[in-house]
Amino acid sequence: MMVIMQEGATEEQIAHVVARIEEIGAAAHISKGERVTLIGAIGDREELTGLPLEACPGVDRVVAILKPYKLVSREFRPADTVITVRDTKVGGGHFALIAGPCSVETPDQVLTAARAVKAAGGTMLRGGAFKPRTSPYAFQGLGVDGLKMMAAARDETGLPIVTEVMDPRDLDIVAGYADVLQVGARNMQNFLLLAELGKLNKPVLLKRGPSATIEELLMAAEYIVKEGNRDVILCERGIRTFETATRNTLDIAAVPIIKLASHLPILVDPSHATGRLDLVLPLSLSAVAAGADGVIVETHPNPEHALCDGPQSLPTEAFAEYAARVLELVAWTGKTTV
Ligand code: PEP
Ligand code: MN
Repeated sequence: MMVIMQEGATEEQIAHVVARIEEIGAAAHISKGERVTLIGAIGDREELTGLPLEACPGVDRVVAILKPYKLVSREFRPADTVITVRDTKVGGGHFALIAGPCSVETPDQVLTAARAVKAAGGTMLRGGAFKPRTSPYAFQGLGVDGLKMMAAARDETGLPIVTEVMDPRDLDIVAGYADVLQVGARNMQNFLLLAELGKLNKPVLLKRGPSATIEELLMAAEYIVKEGNRDVILCERGIRTFETATRNTLDIAAVPIIKLASHLPILVDPSHATGRLDLVLPLSLSAVAAGADGVIVETHPNPEHALCDGPQSLPTEAFAEYAARVLELVAWTGKTTV
């Protein structure tokens, strides 16, 4: 349930409400808006309803959050969450253009991609060092060496880096390099990993599982936020359907649905959604038009020789033209990339 404080409620009044909530073993999550403070109370429903919080000084009203996800819901936080990653922002009018290779392969490959992304106005560099591959015999990524190559590309270009963590045991090492920790689609419901990420002070990019509903994605985000880390960026990357023309089916409606249901930023990954280079631009444009807070796409200096996902990777030499088209539409929607 949610306690809406009166405008001008004092810190003592807020602390008192928090103490009453915690007395019964429930958790209190404070969200300070420009004018009013909201306190989300998560715990036993019966016990919470029995608490006479409306009688506490400074409380305006108490309302139930009916959705199964609470902290990530719009009810809990009406304003968009804006996440700062180094000197760039995502959400609330800030658009992220994230690009880079599927997998880190060589220092030169990452640097070439990073320079092109930076020059074209991209805001972050993506690249996997720990790769979740369908086949156990496929290239599994360079691990820590790959993280070092990403960090070197960040040092040169200034682009923050987004990279995947698959296993809670690798969390410290990956968090030591990454600016944004990616949870891949296959791990969306790895609840132990999500809870550990929730204890960090670093943004998480949470990709929708190939067979997950929008509600399940939001519940997965709730696992992270519940532990204290509020910086979660959601990502629609295509779901499994009967259609075979594309690798997955991009659920573009997920973007406005999530914007209505949640305050968290939502990105679109047209590369994994389609598996097709020729669909990356049109679906990036649809993502912008649908209200996405960013796109994350794959680009490789030599897609023909990529160790992973070559057919869906934009050749790096074509990235500037792609980015110009996307950023033109972003500007038209009134969003910025800073
Ligand atoms: C990726 O972004 O590198 C990736 C593996 O994507 P997904 O988890 O969406 O399949
Ligand atoms: Mn990939």
